[in-house]
Amino acid sequence: MTTGDWSDKAASLDFNISNRVNAQKVNSSGEALYKYSPRDGSVLYELGQGNQQDVDESVAAAKNAFEDGRWASMPVSQRKMVLSQWADLIQADAEYFALCESLDVGKPIHDALNMDVPIALTLLRYSIEGCDKVYGNVYPGDHRSFAMDILKPRGVVAGIVGWNFPLVLAMMKIAPALAMGNSLVIKPSELSSLSMGRLVDLALQAGVPEGVFNLVNGAGATVGNALAHHPDVDLLTFTGSSQTGKQLLIASGQSNMKRLLLECGGKSPNIIFDDVDDLPGIVDAVIAKMYWNQGQVCTAGSRLLLSKKIKDSFLELLCEKVAALPLGDPLDDSTRMGPLISEAQLIKVQSYIESGKRDGASLLLGGEVPGSFDAGFYLQPCVFDGVQADHQIAQEEIFGPVLSVMTFDNDEHAVQLANSTIYGLAATVWTSNIQRAQAMAYGLSAGELTVRASTAVTAGVPLGTMPLEGHKQSGLGSESGLQGLRNYTISTSLQMFS
Ligand code: NAD
Repeated sequence: MTTGDWSDKAASLDFNISNRVNAQKVNSSGEALYKYSPRDGSVLYELGQGNQQDVDESVAAAKNAFEDGRWASMPVSQRKMVLSQWADLIQADAEYFALCESLDVGKPIHDALNMDVPIALTLLRYSIEGCDKVYGNVYPGDHRSFAMDILKPRGVVAGIVGWNFPLVLAMMKIAPALAMGNSLVIKPSELSSLSMGRLVDLALQAGVPEGVFNLVNGAGATVGNALAHHPDVDLLTFTGSSQTGKQLLIASGQSNMKRLLLECGGKSPNIIFDDVDDLPGIVDAVIAKMYWNQGQVCTAGSRLLLSKKIKDSFLELLCEKVAALPLGDPLDDSTRMGPLISEAQLIKVQSYIESGKRDGASLLLGGEVPGSFDAGFYLQPCVFDGVQADHQIAQEEIFGPVLSVMTFDNDEHAVQLANSTIYGLAATVWTSNIQRAQAMAYGLSAGELTVRASTAVTAGVPLGTMPLEGHKQSGLGSESGLQGLRNYTISTSLQMFS
């Protein structure tokens, strides 16, 4: 499709972003805010913001639906059929969802259609397949007793999500929550709320009973905060910054000790040893890991740690290829890098670029607002060399297309540099040396570690199969995999005596 085709489709979209409570479309009670288009800065839509009353009503709806068992007690086989039907409806509407994601976030339509929507569906189908594979144990006792643990849904789940992958991040919470029989209130980010309304409507159409899946739009300080403090929310599952994650820990302690699953920030190292071949292929992989979604990815490889021996040749290739990355209109099918999500994000990233320069790192290329766009929040991808471990751009999550390059002398130095932030979300290591790989696996503080010996393309395990548990201030608890499903249940240790 051409940009014109996508623009025409966008113009005819029914945004319909009201709240959904008890299967009803409900306007928010709070003041509306304007959402601006990343691609041209115009007003994209007006978002009605919820308040305490909206949160109370949606939590009450979820609680009521949970307590009467309309979903929690539905036979699992039936629940799975309903959710499968929902997955099919989402798939049939893939273009709609891709367009919402692209318009809201500024991500290339190509990526939204070929990555975001399929990933969200993979996560949903994994939860559907996995929900009856998670169960308790039977324990040995005597012949007059029977001991087991039974797993039950937790009750009312609140999901609060970040803006960078609205559909995927929401699905990471909604799919396991619903598959395990919970009721739910979801709050998308106020910066990217477009896709949620249709997602709930399709769930209702597929047969998810009313009140089980509710949506409240609005800001973190109001809607998010009200959910975090709500006494009837049993589990709060969150994706966003570590700073907000810490506030949610406080809110839980101040309210009902609701359980928390926190998926937070990262400053992930990409470590390249000198025992690997195919540097051009590795450069491509480093670029993909860093600049996908304009660098607005929690696991972005935003710190490149290079062995001193290969540094010069690697950097030369890298800069050549980064300079050739074309920035473009996200609705152009050929665009692989679009604008940042908002003006505030653009300003934030620019201030990090200034801090890198002030601290003495050398900006090798990029970092400018390109002159080729009249409007929108575009920024050229940039590379900093000579970054020191204590520089702000080496320590803080920038969430933009800024790569910090550092060099190491030996394996111990690489581990020390890699572990020198408050985060421990992900890491990538390029080496063909198995002893080195093992030492990295135990030495690096990362919830998700990829070790690659070559650039050969392999599929690996399907997405959503392995749990991800952020280390240090990157999170609390894990999502995905069977453990991720189990986290949406609560166990009772049961002994029965005759
Ligand atoms: P954010 O913390 O500002 O906001 C995340 C969500 O929390 C939003 O819905 C927001 O409205 C809400 N919120 C904000 N303040 C709140 C409060 N006081 N109480 C309750 N809710 C509140 O994060 P963001 O800028 O939207 O997202 C970017 C962050 O998300 C980055 O740090 C990124 O690393 C992280 N992230 C992590 C993962 C992961 O899997 N670990 C995935 C994607 C993004």
